[in-house]
Amino acid sequence: MGGEQQRSTTLEHRGQLILEGCPDYAVLLDHDWSVVYANPTFQQKFCPHGAMDGANFLSYLDAASAARLRDLQPQLLQGSRQIELKHVTPDARTVSVQYSFFPVTGADPEVLMAGIGRDRAGDLSALLETINLNLELEKKQKELSEANARLEQLAITDQITELYNRHYFFQVSQHFWEEAKRYKLPLVVILMDIDNFKSVNDHYGHLFGDYVLKQASQRLKTNTRKSDILARFGGEELIVLASNTDIQTGQVLAERLRLSVCSEPFLMGNCSATVTISAGISGTELGDFSTFDALLDSSDQALYGAKRAGKNCVSTYSDLPRP
Ligand code: GH3
Ligand code: MG
Ligand code: MG
Repeated sequence: MGGEQQRSTTLEHRGQLILEGCPDYAVLLDHDWSVVYANPTFQQKFCPHGAMDGANFLSYLDAASAARLRDLQPQLLQGSRQIELKHVTPDARTVSVQYSFFPVTGADPEVLMAGIGRDRAGDLSALLETINLNLELEKKQKELSEANARLEQLAITDQITELYNRHYFFQVSQHFWEEAKRYKLPLVVILMDIDNFKSVNDHYGHLFGDYVLKQASQRLKTNTRKSDILARFGGEELIVLASNTDIQTGQVLAERLRLSVCSEPFLMGNCSATVTISAGISGTELGDFSTFDALLDSSDQALYGAKRAGKNCVSTYSDLPRP
């Protein structure tokens, strides 16, 4: 066997290996669409029991696809073309196949063109898989952003009272302070302290003390507006920052808060205790405060006044010199 002939036999053998093992459909067609060759994938799908030789390729298509393909023949003989065709299987199912047709010129005069087709179902299942992966990803991203939001909330919340913590209070108060100055809006600070809290702990234990602190905080929360910043300032000190609020409105709010705490005893198991708070109130209308800290300090002075006045009351800051 000559070298040239041997190479061509090897090529033929390898080409056959590709066609026979290929998962795509492969057909060779003559000028009137007769199937000269169909690979096993094509045969098994569209003609599992019969002989294919000489069968008309168009007869394996639905009517519309057959008509389209027939009309395209002149173009197919010019160069390669992609076309999606609908095949009909022996059990009357329709299968979309993406074909690439191209003219074949060579030793076999019978063969005019070749077609390689891929089941679109494969593409669709890959598409579905991608969609599912994307949905899964979206779900994970949502879970992550919810977890982040929970973390952020945790970072600004006091564990015992579930109010804002001191750090967050100072963060937002600066913003409120700047805004009040710029728009010349009144701002009020109410600083509160639970009276004789040490003796509550001493009498009933720290657990009950914690419970009172938490429940008192919740009573305060119920009695403040959403726009008010209510925070745990430290130990048993709680604070309200009320924006766009004049001092009279602030005094009414402070009195309501005081009453909400002392009006009913706190009950836990066998323990029952009535607890009172003292409050000091100050506001931007009451002095020429140069910083937020100065305003805060004035509310602390007012709180001190309330304690001196006998506790369980609200005292308002005054910058008049004390007698
Ligand atoms: P006054 O009326 O002058 O405010 O007296 P007081 O006893 O409330 O004040 P004092 O400063 O003497 O004591 C504060 C107490 O508050 C002591 C401290 O153990 C308690 N306390 C502070 N934080 C907590 C807390 O988170 N849980 C509990 N159970 N107690 C706390
Ligand atoms: Mg106290
Ligand atoms: Mg205190």
